[in-house]
Amino acid sequence: MPDLGSKRTLAIDLDSVLADTMVIWLEEYNKGNKSSVKKDDIISWDISKILNISITEVSDIFTYIWDKRWKDIPPTEPSIGNTVSNLHNKGFRISILTKRYRSSVANVIKWLDFHKIHCDDLLFVYDDAPKTNYPFDILVDDAPINFSELVHPRIGILFNQPWNKNFTWPIRINSLSEAINLI
Ligand SMILES: [Mg+2]
Repeated sequence: MPDLGSKRTLAIDLDSVLADTMVIWLEEYNKGNKSSVKKDDIISWDISKILNISITEVSDIFTYIWDKRWKDIPPTEPSIGNTVSNLHNKGFRISILTKRYRSSVANVIKWLDFHKIHCDDLLFVYDDAPKTNYPFDILVDDAPINFSELVHPRIGILFNQPWNKNFTWPIRINSLSEAINLI
């Protein structure tokens, strides 16, 4: 029997940590609005305020891209499946922890398979439960709010994105492969 108790769990967020979702989100947004907004323009967490659109419009585009364009959503780095496998081979349980609409679940699973991303479990959060409610030792996420209730000895690694630059956090990475040297 494998000794699960001795393994540390690394929780990894999906959107904007594994999947570079905003690239395709912005493609669709720009198409519909004849605009040319870039990811670097999204400098705060609240997309609706930056683009002056409703929260419903923001989520409608997310729903659309995971429904119709999931295959176009790029990973945040090439061969990301190998990166996740390397983290797993370092002795971590890989838990993909993602808050999302239920309608996108089937295509998220297809996306993970398509990019050969290993996980030991896959947790879909449908409500507003904080990610800190879930079991992990280390969380990699791009959303500062997910670190607000994080307490020692649990560790949060912030995945750099244009919308989290102003958040003060000591441990940051630009790519998931950088996490290998940190943990
Ligand atoms: Mg995210």
